[in-house]
Amino acid sequence: MDLNKMLEKYADVIVNIGINIKAGEKLSIRLTEEALPLARLVVGKAYEKGALNVRLDFMDDQMTLDRYLHGSDEVFDYLPDYEVTYRDAIYKDGYNVLNLETPNPELLKSADPKRIARWQKLAGMKWKPIIHYTMENKVKWCVAGVAGKAWAQAVFPLLPPEESLLKLWDYIFMAERIDQADPVAAWKQHDASLKSHKTFLNNAHFSQVHYEGPGTDLLVSLPKNHIWEGGSSISQGGDVFFPNIPTEEVFSMPDADHVEGSLAATMPLSVRGQIVDKFGFTFKDGKVTDHYAEEGKAILDDLLTTDEGASRLGEIALVAANSPIAKTGILFKSTLFDENASCHFALGAAYSENLEGATERSEDENRKLGMNNSVIHVDFMVGSKDVTVTGIQEDGIEIVLLKDCDWQI
Ligand code: ZN
Ligand code: ZN
Repeated sequence: MDLNKMLEKYADVIVNIGINIKAGEKLSIRLTEEALPLARLVVGKAYEKGALNVRLDFMDDQMTLDRYLHGSDEVFDYLPDYEVTYRDAIYKDGYNVLNLETPNPELLKSADPKRIARWQKLAGMKWKPIIHYTMENKVKWCVAGVAGKAWAQAVFPLLPPEESLLKLWDYIFMAERIDQADPVAAWKQHDASLKSHKTFLNNAHFSQVHYEGPGTDLLVSLPKNHIWEGGSSISQGGDVFFPNIPTEEVFSMPDADHVEGSLAATMPLSVRGQIVDKFGFTFKDGKVTDHYAEEGKAILDDLLTTDEGASRLGEIALVAANSPIAKTGILFKSTLFDENASCHFALGAAYSENLEGATERSEDENRKLGMNNSVIHVDFMVGSKDVTVTGIQEDGIEIVLLKDCDWQI
């Protein structure tokens, strides 16, 4: 594989499909050291397309970890308002945002979970007034995966570092259709196929979705006038963009007050730099009333108590396991990838694009209609070849949606 040539194709997909940058627009990029070669190509292509400005936010895993390990307690209570005001000003000025994410599944393994929870709670509250810019697609935004050494070692622990990194890139390019002859065309075709599933689900007007599998018997109600989305999104300015690269999901919002039964996760979850594994929940009236985890239970305990909405569902997503990601057959240990190989839910906030008219109503009004509200949004995987997903219409008619890892519609 010629890595430089592949990165060039990847940058094309990010600029033309992911962010879909247009002449005169602005772009804010969040990146790590490992994303630099890709970021340089992206910035070059953005200016070629007429971007007015590109600004950067630099993140570093070592510095993030050192803050948790060596910072004093006060560090985790300090987030001045002007940081939020600055970010708000950037969005108001029309910046679109690209996150070149280099996952590091166990970065914070040695950090104190209480510190992580304390910081996440503070950051969640502080950033909440401005999450509407992305949650409501007021700007174009895109999260795209970038291979890094620590991530590659977590996925392929038996390979030497350089080899594991190249192998991870290989799988990323496969999963993201970058290895195809014309990746931009492949993404447009993929979008059309996701749109056909989404159209079927919207026309069927299901009132409930039933999940059955080992450790799972869950009945999820959907709010009236919910909307299934998938593939590209449309910004409030009317531009098409892809919030996630990769993406294989068709998703909507559950009714936050009407989820009943038991639900077992089918993959480990890397959240806040730590791993939660072999876990599951019991729901009553939409709320988690019981939960278990063989690994990382403390992380889950903290997550669920972040706020009222943290123990309720905000996203229901259907994914067929015959996607290029699932076909790689590997566990990426990163939600951005693993959630696109498996049906999933998210604890916490729902997306307003999944409820008709949501952006015109207040948060309280939307909440009454079943739209969950929280400072967290954490996806976890529940799909496998043993899980059957059935849609139920108001009059009781049942239609199997996913079985044996494949779409039945
Ligand atoms: Zn999702
Ligand atoms: Zn999600």
